[in-house]
Amino acid sequence: MSKNNHIIVKRDLKVVWHPCTQMKDHEKIPLIPIKEGKGVWLKDYNNNKYIDAISSWWVNLFGHSNPYINKKIIKQLEKLEHVLLAGFTHMPALTLAERLISLSPKNISKCFFADNGSSAIDAAMKMSHHYWRNQGYNKKTKFISLSNSYHGETLGSLSVSNIDLYKKTYKNLMKDTIVVDTPDCYLKNDTHTDKEHTRLMFDKMLKAIEKNHKVTSAVILEPLVQCAGYMRMYHPIYLKLLREACDKYKLHLIADEIAVGFGRTGTMFAYEKSKITPDIICLSKGITGGYMTLSTILTNDNIYNAFYDEYIKLNAFLHSHSYAANPLACTAANASLDLFEKSNVINNNKILSEYILKSFAEISKHPNVSDVRQHGMITAIELVKNKSKKIPYNWKERRGLRAYEYGLKNNVLIRPLGNVIYFMPPYIIKKKEIDKVINVIHGAIDVATK
Ligand SMILES: *Cc1c(COP(=O)(O)O)cnc(C)c1O
Repeated sequence: MSKNNHIIVKRDLKVVWHPCTQMKDHEKIPLIPIKEGKGVWLKDYNNNKYIDAISSWWVNLFGHSNPYINKKIIKQLEKLEHVLLAGFTHMPALTLAERLISLSPKNISKCFFADNGSSAIDAAMKMSHHYWRNQGYNKKTKFISLSNSYHGETLGSLSVSNIDLYKKTYKNLMKDTIVVDTPDCYLKNDTHTDKEHTRLMFDKMLKAIEKNHKVTSAVILEPLVQCAGYMRMYHPIYLKLLREACDKYKLHLIADEIAVGFGRTGTMFAYEKSKITPDIICLSKGITGGYMTLSTILTNDNIYNAFYDEYIKLNAFLHSHSYAANPLACTAANASLDLFEKSNVINNNKILSEYILKSFAEISKHPNVSDVRQHGMITAIELVKNKSKKIPYNWKERRGLRAYEYGLKNNVLIRPLGNVIYFMPPYIIKKKEIDKVINVIHGAIDVATK
């Protein structure tokens, strides 16, 4: 039996260059060919099963091969697989735009389509800058972002990102960005509450805005959780203060909801917790329930109208992607929204996330666990060398990798970010499956901290 995985892996490594991977690692770490997925379970060619505890890089919401989404896609496939969106439209895109707008605050009235997260960020940056140009503000060429942020891998989105691991090598290709210290509450002084810490950290943002607003188009940030930034979290007050400052100093607030959107932090969108309306909202990842590549940029009439003009003035937003609003992807997205409506997902998630946090209570006592944090369906555990001083392990020890390997041996896919183990499951996970994951994470922590 074990030949099956083996043969496929051998063929694969001859031709496939995998993302986010030092390929030499695969001399030692086995690549896993997946044959099929059902619910939270993935199955490889040796019939080993794994619980997908990370929603396949945070995209999956309702399980793999969801029967309802499958049925809708098959039906759409028989009618229309793709058509360009310039000069043409189709019902799946139109319906999706209407539904996303109706889920958004009152001011949000327009939906622009792209086809992946990074390109949505690039488009949002261009849209913001171009808006100001069309209004006569030619100097607004910069962006403000947070330290430890992640907005994607294309040159534009990487420019506003701030994780050395992904960015440093390409520094000379990057656009200059103004980086403000993150409000990340892991770094707070113990005498402060999360809210106090977040509020204090906002002073740094305010100073940067006061100093740079004339040359800045927008502030871009990930609401509440910096996911690729080791699942670091902050308090909703930050966005409220940022909204006020952006209004006062004429800057756009771009919310990158690519990872945190569609219920991950407990509300449909993370910015809702701050009761604010961003000027531009980027959505992707969970938008199709994890089926296909799609992204949207939601905005308001004020921005839209700044581009609405006689053709010869050349004020139009001429950004496009060939597969923007692909009908199959939009159908998956509409089916996923149906499931939100049908099964009271947000309320059920509340019960699940409370259950998850309760189950992790013991883990926080572990001598090498310095933090257990949660926003809704995202729970993260920070492993450290020294708990009281929060001294991290040397990254070269690759302790997270030990946890990953232990997880796979025990039928759970966890994929730690450095020394942070996190649990971000599809919403259809059952309590019994949560128990299994928690158990395995316990074991993985022991192995990783030995
Ligand atoms: C994943 C991610 C992106 C990039 O999306 P891709 O589809 O992978 O290009 C951007 N922002 C955030 C917050 C993300 O988590």
